[in-house]
Amino acid sequence: MSMNNKNERNAPFTKAVQRLKDERRYRVFIDLERDAQRFPTALWRPGGDEKPRDVTIWCSNDYLGMGGHPKVRAAATAAADRHGAGAGGTRNISGTHHRIVELEGELADLHGKESALVFTSGWISNLAGISIIASLLPNCLILSDALNHNSMIEGVLRSGCEKKVWRHNDVDHLEELLKAAGPDRAKLVVFESLYSMDGDIAPIEKIVDLAERYNAMTYIDEVHAVGMYGAHGGGISEREGLAHRIDVIEGTLAKGFGSLGGYIAADAVIVDAVRSYAPQFIFTTTLPPMVVAGACAAIRHLKESNVERDGHQYMASVTKHALQAAGIPVRENPSHIVPVMVGDAERCKAASDLLMRRHDIYIQPINYPTVAIGTERLRITPTPRHTEAHVSYLVEALVDVWKTLDLPFTTARILPLRRRQPVNDCVYPEMKKAAE
Ligand SMILES: *Cc1c(COP(=O)(O)O)cnc(C)c1O
Repeated sequence: MSMNNKNERNAPFTKAVQRLKDERRYRVFIDLERDAQRFPTALWRPGGDEKPRDVTIWCSNDYLGMGGHPKVRAAATAAADRHGAGAGGTRNISGTHHRIVELEGELADLHGKESALVFTSGWISNLAGISIIASLLPNCLILSDALNHNSMIEGVLRSGCEKKVWRHNDVDHLEELLKAAGPDRAKLVVFESLYSMDGDIAPIEKIVDLAERYNAMTYIDEVHAVGMYGAHGGGISEREGLAHRIDVIEGTLAKGFGSLGGYIAADAVIVDAVRSYAPQFIFTTTLPPMVVAGACAAIRHLKESNVERDGHQYMASVTKHALQAAGIPVRENPSHIVPVMVGDAERCKAASDLLMRRHDIYIQPINYPTVAIGTERLRITPTPRHTEAHVSYLVEALVDVWKTLDLPFTTARILPLRRRQPVNDCVYPEMKKAAE
């Protein structure tokens, strides 16, 4: 094929990419090498003639650093040695392995449900879970929170059911819609426990009250809370003692649990129905034993240990406190997410670039369509493996970036600090021992 021909054939793709560039929405990924031993430090390869160098990650969704936990690495390595790299097929053909049966048992137990089903990702579990459950309910109306994650929206669309969107966390609006649908119509209320961009938490008890009053099923996405909240890491629904009143709990193994995969937990018959009908489950190869074993080790550890959860909350609190005291605009919330507001796509990208180039700090800019235009931000996610020294350096770096880009400071405020935790002494004793 001549070059000309090729250019012509590819013109629609070139145009599509250019459109994003024109709209300043074109995404650039950085080439990063995570280091289990030194997390949150990682190696950045800038490319070209530039030498690779160490940077500090401040935007990982491996919220607790469990991806690098010694128990998790040991379990994953042992499983790879014993079972090999892959699962061997789809569950229907040849891919149900003991590790995944074990994992589903742990997950059902974690949420106090009869049964659980694991998918290749959290995204897929929402697509499959919501679409199949809603489509099996006769003439179901889906009531979906306005800020639900893309995977939930795709699940709603895929179900083919009628949907109504309720204003974010607005239970009065939800009630209006439930009332209008009437008590007899099948209804599925889908929402998240912790919304990861603003870090706000849903009024779960009120939602569950309404669902019970108006005879609706509930489906909650606990992706940003599992492992991190509740006495055993069962999420906000565990912390608030509400898990048993929610019909379906969905979560990921990829964030707090540091691995890969997603799941739903519910009554056995609901799980069985999804297992039997969801093409997103039936026609794709199962997660490999090594990934599953790593996730399982993380879940088991976090059922017993509060060290990571306490360290996580403490570091999030210290980070918010220090940034606010320096006049950096942090959006307040009751969770571990630290949204630093920029409010402009280009300057958000520029801030991120400066942090990386000048200060060896990696924070991905969050722009439209992930967040609304005008609310562009740096989304900072402290982990229990960040130290107070990391925080001090982050504050200095952000102040420098704010001055360089002439971004507005807020009035410095001193907020009350959460109770002190000896973070660096209590995290990963195994790792310390290994280093000695
Ligand atoms: C990340 C995310 C998912 C998808 O989970 P993955 O395991 O990463 O596919 C689902 N829901 C929400 C709210 C998320 O933020």
